[in-house]
Amino acid sequence: MTVTLLWLRRDLRLRDHPALAAALGRGGSVVPVFVLDPRLVGGPRSSANRTWFLLESLREVAAGLAARGAPLVVRTGHPEDVIPALAEEAGASAVVASRDVSPFARARDRAVGEALAAAGRRLHLERGLLVAEPEEVHTDDGRPVTVFTPFSRRWAAVPRRTRVPTPDAIPSLPAGTLAGEALPASPVPTADPALLPRPGETAAHERLARWVASAELPAYADGRDRLDQDGTSRLSADLKFGTLSPLEVLLATEGPGDGRRVFVAELCWREFYAHILWHFPHVVRGAYRPAYDAIAWADDPGGLAAWREGRTGYPVVDAAMRQLAASGWMHNRARMIAASFLAKDLLVDWRAGEAHFMTHLVDADVGSNNGGWQWTAGTGTDAAPYFRIFNPVSQGRKSDPSGAYVRRWVPELARVPDAFLHEPWAMPPDVQAAAGCVIGRDYPAPIVDHALARQRALAAYAAATG
Ligand SMILES: Cc1cc2nc3c(=O)[nH]c(=O)nc-3n(C[C@H](O)[C@H](O)[C@H](O)COP(=O)(O)OP(=O)(O)OC[C@H]3O[C@@H](n4cnc5c(N)ncnc54)[C@H](O)[C@@H]3O)c2cc1C
Repeated sequence: MTVTLLWLRRDLRLRDHPALAAALGRGGSVVPVFVLDPRLVGGPRSSANRTWFLLESLREVAAGLAARGAPLVVRTGHPEDVIPALAEEAGASAVVASRDVSPFARARDRAVGEALAAAGRRLHLERGLLVAEPEEVHTDDGRPVTVFTPFSRRWAAVPRRTRVPTPDAIPSLPAGTLAGEALPASPVPTADPALLPRPGETAAHERLARWVASAELPAYADGRDRLDQDGTSRLSADLKFGTLSPLEVLLATEGPGDGRRVFVAELCWREFYAHILWHFPHVVRGAYRPAYDAIAWADDPGGLAAWREGRTGYPVVDAAMRQLAASGWMHNRARMIAASFLAKDLLVDWRAGEAHFMTHLVDADVGSNNGGWQWTAGTGTDAAPYFRIFNPVSQGRKSDPSGAYVRRWVPELARVPDAFLHEPWAMPPDVQAAAGCVIGRDYPAPIVDHALARQRALAAYAAATG
């Protein structure tokens, strides 16, 4: 009898799941498995916020699989050991998984594929994490597309797969045939669980339905840049962990109007960065443009600590960093402002910021995080030119005009008058006293002078790139 292992990773759903459909399509029994890889659940790049979201989402998948007759088998270890052993025990001729793009995932899958092949078994990698696979978008002469606008045109023209139905039943081996472990308790997130997205496929679909019906989607073209409003979908953790299929998100949100058009473009940015990561895996170690690896970054542990802890003295930067710590998420505009401040104003190597985001973001995704950092630092493909340096005061005024964002995340500034909210150091002493916010006592003075820092960054970038 045919037995197939379905190896789940970050495709934690039962709806529109091509790997699950492919496993079922082979006939016979399907055994769903999940490997708790110590490098991912506890390694240096792991995150309590993400492990919490993952395990909680996995519990719902496990319940859904069990209800359909295919209990999930969980084991701890390195997949290159665990998967071949499980395939042997189950008598499985093949293993099916959703294809992933990061260098870590590719090396892991290569190792698993080779170990399986040595025993005459095959690893089949199916679509499902992206709408278009990395090789499906290319220039006329078959090269990767490294500029976003042409990428988005070609991406939109790639023929799409059809949505696959959710199975009612999954034939499997009798329960207990394979020994497994109970899913471990989820770690306590570093963020407030009440502010993290509710894990699991059901909550993800509720979020998607709310977003599609909202007034924010049609207004997204402008609303997405407002820090003081809830103008974005909050679907990023669902796309990261596959509690939603990106095709389902696209089909539900595309349509006429600027809001939907710009939203689909943002979904495309995610695919663009996955494409870059696939074709240029060196980006996980250094600049996409190697000349930028020569930048003489500042050795500034004090500045880095102030940035991480949200006490730089620039309100919008501090609000952003505190939002990240408290909620495991940060608004896209705030990510750009905070990242620019680290890489340009403090001239600290952007990789330190990338690593900090990896620790805290519930949606941290190697492709989008690296792409966002390199774009902001000016070192990436299709990046902002390095001389375009965000001014944290004008960015704050523009994206948080009501001040609600800064006041929410930096409560010591709550009573600062609007006119001074984004540059509180300019408050005369009597205004500071009236606002209950004395600079240097209740809230820090700016740790750098933006105008001077800007000149220093321009000089360092120019020196590196000639
Ligand atoms: C420095 C930096 C780091 C970032 N790190 C990550 C990360 O680790 N993971 C991540 O998913 N996004 C990252 N982004 C992109 C973006 O900030 C988030 O996707 C977005 O804020 C998530 O919130 P949302 O779901 O409400 O987004 P929405 O505005 O509702 O967008 C919908 C979806 O489109 C995708 N998307 C939107 N903007 C971008 C973008 N600029 N690049 C790539 N995909 C995008 C996301 O999947 C998002 O969920 C980063 C951006 C910057 C500037």
